[in-house]
Amino acid sequence: MFDNVGGKIKVLAKVLTGIGIVASIISAISIWSQAGARYAGPSGPYIWTGLLVLILGCLSSWLGSLALYGLGQMIENTDNISYYATRTYEMARLQNNGDSKPKSAPTPAAQKSLAQAGGNPPAHKSKTCPKCGEIASAMYCPICGTRME
Ligand SMILES: [Zn+2]
Repeated sequence: MFDNVGGKIKVLAKVLTGIGIVASIISAISIWSQAGARYAGPSGPYIWTGLLVLILGCLSSWLGSLALYGLGQMIENTDNISYYATRTYEMARLQNNGDSKPKSAPTPAAQKSLAQAGGNPPAHKSKTCPKCGEIASAMYCPICGTRME
């Protein structure tokens, strides 16, 4: 119930935006139809009042949800960071335990690209997970933990 909170907040923000926009449209239509009933055809000021309600209503519901959506995105990012951090730690632990032979030194090309990237290895997404199809550069699938091919 309380997993993927970030994703749920994002969905909530979208739903609230939708409700706000629909409410604005209904308000504008009711203003226009009232004007139509009173003046037999929408008259100038009512057209603009309805339009103003429509535009401001949509704009405010969008802006209000933007903050909520941002919060959801932030929670999601934090979840991802902690998830991948844990995964990375687990992978490093597995590799240290499993591999007895020393790691080969990086090739000159790899060293060059490493230097160009400012010390960070380039994000080659070259391997595909045989189980779930996730594409990543890691030795083990970050989604399901299967060894990548
Ligand atoms: Zn996988």
